[in-house]
Amino acid sequence: SPIIFWFRRDLRLADHPGFSAACATGRPVIPVFVHDGRVEALGAAPRFRLGLGLAAFADSLNAAGSRLILRRGDPLAELRALLAETGAGAVWWSRLYDPASIAQDQKVKAALRNAGCDARSFAGHLLFEPWTVETGTGGFYKVYSPFWRAVRGIDVAPPVPVPTRLPVPSVWPGSDRLESWHMDAAMGRGGAVVARYQSPGEEMALRKLDVFVDKRIDLYKQDRDNLDAEATSGLSDHLSLGEIGPRTLWHRGQEAIRSGAAGAEHFLKELVWREFAYHLMYHSPHILDRNWRAGWETFPWSEDRDNPGFVAWCRGRTGEPLVDAAMREMYVTGRMHNRARMVAASFLTKHLMVHWKLGMDWFADCLTDWDPASNAMGWQWVAGCGPDAAPFFRVFNPETQAAKFDAGGAYRKRWIAEAQKQPPQTALDFFSAIPRAWMLDRDASPAQPVVSLEAGRKRALAAYSDQFSTP
Ligand code: FAD
Repeated sequence: SPIIFWFRRDLRLADHPGFSAACATGRPVIPVFVHDGRVEALGAAPRFRLGLGLAAFADSLNAAGSRLILRRGDPLAELRALLAETGAGAVWWSRLYDPASIAQDQKVKAALRNAGCDARSFAGHLLFEPWTVETGTGGFYKVYSPFWRAVRGIDVAPPVPVPTRLPVPSVWPGSDRLESWHMDAAMGRGGAVVARYQSPGEEMALRKLDVFVDKRIDLYKQDRDNLDAEATSGLSDHLSLGEIGPRTLWHRGQEAIRSGAAGAEHFLKELVWREFAYHLMYHSPHILDRNWRAGWETFPWSEDRDNPGFVAWCRGRTGEPLVDAAMREMYVTGRMHNRARMVAASFLTKHLMVHWKLGMDWFADCLTDWDPASNAMGWQWVAGCGPDAAPFFRVFNPETQAAKFDAGGAYRKRWIAEAQKQPPQTALDFFSAIPRAWMLDRDASPAQPVVSLEAGRKRALAAYSDQFSTP
């Protein structure tokens, strides 16, 4: 009888242990995606990007003679209906690790198994299952460096190749049309603009990896912080939706190390930050919505979403050019350079004294590479309340950062049109992407600073010493 393969954030054919195992049985395999409450809960940009990813994945299944069946509703109900419609005896899927997915998967697995169905979950989203990496005393890692030392020598299985044949059923079950899901609905503000900056799908991901390994990995360590350079892999959107598997990256990185590429080890270290984020989320899921460290509950961060500083930050109008460039880059492209993420997050949580959760939520609405674990860890790291965090008193100075990582000002010019006679298209795209309600156009005068860097820094440090210095 057929196997239903339930896809979520694993939209690929290569390096896919679960799907390959299903195809290897020779039984018909029915690829399914369910638009459920988890999809409803996504922010505008990640949902829009998921729509692009689903279209690309459906195309690659079609090209291989198969299909992607789209259903909408409660996953258990939809999977049961599909079992009845197709006579399938099995539902297989790849594991996810956030608490809501774990709870849902446990429920689905138990209910299907009770009904005699072969319900199975597989690894594939991560290099190391979070429960397999332990400290010497049997706990989980709370600090990155020992985590890296613990995993760097682990033998990671090589990626499994694309299945040679995708066995299909003689009759396909009914499917929604992807267009009927309007995955871009919340992107009314400028989905068409953002779409120009997207390159969804597995084929694109593999191509980007090739280019990165051929041309950039060697200089990755030295250039990756340079805001103006295209020095990183640009693979985070693809990793987030599983359009490329982490084992593929790991093995390409290992090959590059063997062939002497200087930056390759550092690339693997960054990839392991993603693993560390998942390790932390699995073992301490409160990282997603509460200060990870105790003692921060009463820290005087503003939680007011109408706070003028927060509003100006979201709209790229803080008057601090590097921060504004970063916020606009994200609004227009769905991505933001990692260094810029740190500077923008530090400015919000320190100079503006706004709660990291507000910033995290805005990123979750705007990032096409949104990932629950990396986003939460990144914010708590910058804010100072997370595991292995930068100390709160390390306040990034956006001007010093700009002088160091955007020395010629090219990054700022690329994203800020105000005060430029002939702004580049990227900077103008911001005005096509934003909602009318922001009442901002290309003739706007340059933003005035919402806070002086010195006053903001002093206020943040005073709040910190009030909270944490022992009398
Ligand atoms: P590369 O430099 O080419 O790195 C390769 C891969 O390693 C990345 O694709 C990513 O999967 C992983 N990686 C690299 N740096 C980190 C890191 N610091 N933390 C975790 N994984 C990392 N990344 C996301 O994928 N989704 C998010 O929602 C997200 N939110 C963030 C929020 C804040 C406040 C901060 C400071 C960082 C956040 N990051 C997030 C991490 C990082 O900024 C991006 O992964 C990176 O910029 C992606 O670009 P790249 O693919 O070219 O990375």
